[in-house]
Amino acid sequence: MFLDAGTITPVPADLVRRAPKVLLHDHLDGGLRPQTVVDLAAETGYPDLPEQDADALARWFAAAAFSGSLERYLETFKHTVGVTQTAEALRRVARECAEDLAADGVVYAEVRYAPELHLEKGLEVHQVVEAVLAGFAEGQRSAVAAGHRIRVGVLLTAMRTATHSRQIAELAVDYRDAGVVGFDIAGAEAGFPPTRHLDAFEYLRRENAHFTIHAGEAFGLPSIWEALQWCGADRLGHGVRIVDDIEIGPDGEPHLGRLAAYVRDRRIPLEMCPSSNVQTGAAESIERHPIGLLRRLGFRVTVNTDNRLMSGTSMSKEFELLNEAFGYGLNDMQWFTINAMKSSFLPFDERLSIINDQIKPQYSALRAVLAERLTERS
Ligand SMILES: [Zn+2]
Repeated sequence: MFLDAGTITPVPADLVRRAPKVLLHDHLDGGLRPQTVVDLAAETGYPDLPEQDADALARWFAAAAFSGSLERYLETFKHTVGVTQTAEALRRVARECAEDLAADGVVYAEVRYAPELHLEKGLEVHQVVEAVLAGFAEGQRSAVAAGHRIRVGVLLTAMRTATHSRQIAELAVDYRDAGVVGFDIAGAEAGFPPTRHLDAFEYLRRENAHFTIHAGEAFGLPSIWEALQWCGADRLGHGVRIVDDIEIGPDGEPHLGRLAAYVRDRRIPLEMCPSSNVQTGAAESIERHPIGLLRRLGFRVTVNTDNRLMSGTSMSKEFELLNEAFGYGLNDMQWFTINAMKSSFLPFDERLSIINDQIKPQYSALRAVLAERLTERS
């Protein structure tokens, strides 16, 4: 009997880690190493850390993130942003981000952050952008030295509760040839609809630039609809609430409403972040995460980390959780990964070459490794 090793589940942990992965939704200020937070607090004279030891601090971050209290969750970002107010700190954090993602098997990542949050000690926005780009360039080089190949693109985020979105959008266009591949808005969703930032989105469209919008996480369908139909978003950050427009009939058959049908028909990428969605209450549990249904219905879903530090996660861990909950194998991982690569903001030919030169051949090789392990055992 012929067995496709790509359907075997669960995928052994070492193969999940080695599998090429593509990450579209990761926050720079949500992914610091705990030791780095401690070091930077000491170096930059940041006085407010709740713990001085890296392990204790990591536990504090996880406890705050899982507390169910939005205030405590937001306090975690106060600290990571608080220690990254200098060019050196930003550069280090970006370098380590690229190194950590590469070591986890990520071959392409789009990492986002809000320049306007790093101006407390006198940096100008362009200095923030340049420090982060320099850090990513260093991280990509040191990853190669460690035997990994990663490419990192930057998304500049504007805070939806503030009024700088047009300026940040212009910054994204200014640095589009230097490694910034797109734009995003983030922050409290309820009460701050994306249409408040229409000027920024219209500007970006006139400039033929790409953007994604955090929508349909805390807030439902109207937020998704505005992001797509008023603002013209290329992708949706999270978008989990699109399931509110899918009804399961008495026959068990799913029926898509107009908006859900539009999202699927137009192949709008959904940047789903399973662990984060459970933490914020956007999904009940990993097992009941809408990603299972949406994948079955053929939506353009992708798997992401959101905030690796706060959620204590990585791309490998997210895939392990999904593989376990939904019985996914290497074939499913490849499907999610190609979805993400197709949805990236890189030029089309570069997306294709990562798919054809890295993702597909490496998954084939891993299927062969898994098949071999099984024959050895039988
Ligand atoms: Zn996010």
